[in-house]
Amino acid sequence: MRRLAILPLLLLMTLLFPLREAAADTNVARSATPSASYTSTWESVAAINDGIDPPRSNDTVNRRWGTWPQTGTQWAELTWPATQTLRSADVYFFDDGGGVRVPASWKLQYWTGSAYADVPGTYPVAADTYNTASFAQVSTTRLRVVLQSGQGSVGLLEVRAFAPDTGGGTSGWNPPASLVTPLDEVWRHVESTYPNPYGFRNYGWDQIMANRGSINYCVRWDSSATVTAAQRDQIHAALARQFKKWMDVMAGHNGWPYAEVPLKVVGWAVRDRAQLQWSDTSVDVYVNNIRENAPQCAEPCGRFFNQSGNYPNCPGGASHHYDMSLWLTAGFSGGAGGDWGQRVGSEYYMSNLNTASMHILLHEIGHSFGLDDFYDWTPTGVCCFLMKAGSATSITDFDAWMFRDWWRHLKSRYGL
Ligand SMILES: [Zn+2]
Repeated sequence: MRRLAILPLLLLMTLLFPLREAAADTNVARSATPSASYTSTWESVAAINDGIDPPRSNDTVNRRWGTWPQTGTQWAELTWPATQTLRSADVYFFDDGGGVRVPASWKLQYWTGSAYADVPGTYPVAADTYNTASFAQVSTTRLRVVLQSGQGSVGLLEVRAFAPDTGGGTSGWNPPASLVTPLDEVWRHVESTYPNPYGFRNYGWDQIMANRGSINYCVRWDSSATVTAAQRDQIHAALARQFKKWMDVMAGHNGWPYAEVPLKVVGWAVRDRAQLQWSDTSVDVYVNNIRENAPQCAEPCGRFFNQSGNYPNCPGGASHHYDMSLWLTAGFSGGAGGDWGQRVGSEYYMSNLNTASMHILLHEIGHSFGLDDFYDWTPTGVCCFLMKAGSATSITDFDAWMFRDWWRHLKSRYGL
């Protein structure tokens, strides 16, 4: 009987092993920022890494990236905040049977740090399916899909870029060798200049952990302008997109428990209700509750005022609480950020709703998670990064590792 029992087990292992191998590659495309040589105004380059598997090459349902009427060589690219190790990629071509067709040929290029280099491989061209290119492993922050047009313009519906899940990558504390010294300097600077870095308990980290993986915002509309429902939703979407850039730095890293951190705007604060041109009740509205000479959402609902995480006097209950405020001030240039949220100019925000990296806001969100300014010193060997104001306009590898360093030092407070 014992011998018989072994046989099914061996069979099971044989069957499972190839499946486990196949599942070991992770699609890292979704944490990248997409860009392209050209995008038709009615299409969207965001389509290429939105995670939606297209139903067919002539996708009339989901957003698409297309270059009509441009022809010749066109490209779309994924840029990551941190170095990725890649060993295969899938592309799904857009082909509407008219002006946009599958390409005559395509190839991948990766960024070496100073130039684009071709990725040697075979590049199949088929409609209505993913086309897979496998290649020797490359480590890079950018992967470019270069398309040569054939019978029409070209386009893509989705790009997947796969990294081997070897337990390496950024799953643990393993910053690139060149960043070890500057990261060490930054953390020692934090310890010597922050009044209470380990005792303070209202970092963005604490807020997300208290909510079990989400974040709530109040918009402080510190302006006399009116706001339509569409603008309200765009303000929310832009904030969520920018916040996600920092959260993507953490996905899968060093015990961080959340692949996604949903962001909800639960409240709006204004001077005059008539400024808000909607009548639905999707957000709480707080009228003429003035603090710091600006409207704010009710204090009993704010995490800043209730750091225990309990909101007994919040009218809608705890689900209507807000962790941070997005404070948008007319005529304000520059920014401010802290555990209470972020403050930027309302004109800056409204004119950058669709900007890939709203860098002032990103910088201020960094402060909300503990990251410091670098007005008076620069860590060894790093010139340009988001938290050194004016030197970079997106989250760099160094910013990403400084961010992860905060998690490394705080995670034990959550039992992780
Ligand atoms: Zn700053």
